[in-house]
Amino acid sequence: MPTIDPSILSDRPELDLTVPGGENKVLMHSCCAPCSGELIEGMVKAGIDLTIFFYNPNIHPKKEYEIRKSENIRYAEKLNIPFVDADYDVQNWFARAKGMEKDPERGRRCSMCFDMRFERTALYAHENNFKVITSSLGISRWKNMDQINESGLRAASHYEGVEYWTYNWRQQGGGARMYDIAKREEFYKQEYCGCIYSLRDTNEWREFKGREKIQIGEEFYRQKIEEPKQGEGA
Ligand code: SF4
Repeated sequence: MPTIDPSILSDRPELDLTVPGGENKVLMHSCCAPCSGELIEGMVKAGIDLTIFFYNPNIHPKKEYEIRKSENIRYAEKLNIPFVDADYDVQNWFARAKGMEKDPERGRRCSMCFDMRFERTALYAHENNFKVITSSLGISRWKNMDQINESGLRAASHYEGVEYWTYNWRQQGGGARMYDIAKREEFYKQEYCGCIYSLRDTNEWREFKGREKIQIGEEFYRQKIEEPKQGEGA
């Protein structure tokens, strides 16, 4: 079980969490530090034995991938939570995205992207005796939670004894606390979903709005930074 500085958790509410099957051990797929902060703190406060699984070959370019990963590691180390650094098999991601380059966010390319990340999470769970997996992806209000849950359930169904936990991490104030934690920890603030196509589309939208293109590695959450606008969050 991870140990944690009690001052970090003393002010937050304890979530009413019921892990499927009465389990107390969870493998959490994490997309980034800002999205996973609320899940991590909520589960640790509830006494859940949590392991973070970082597998995100969608993130482009590599510089952005390394920053997002290192921010997640920084927070995991702070809380002494096990962190699994999985492969960055980006060529495999591009192969699976072929023909879907122009698809909009929340479309079939995103289903493929969720499937790929959850398939690897479920495989790791199967091979390492985790019975429950979940993900930080659904906490972002810009994501379609049903689409994410469908992918999670699909991936888990390949392995008997592995279940995808569909808990809605936005509820019980989770959506707002996610930004409070990001500001408190001054996490890197990614400004697009992750893949090369979301970077392209967000930059096109910014150009249309007369805004500057995204500068990789420049923005960090601060107490005064606003929440991301549509198209900017993970
Ligand atoms: S927009 Fe986001 S979820 Fe969709 S394919 Fe790109 S990285 Fe994956």
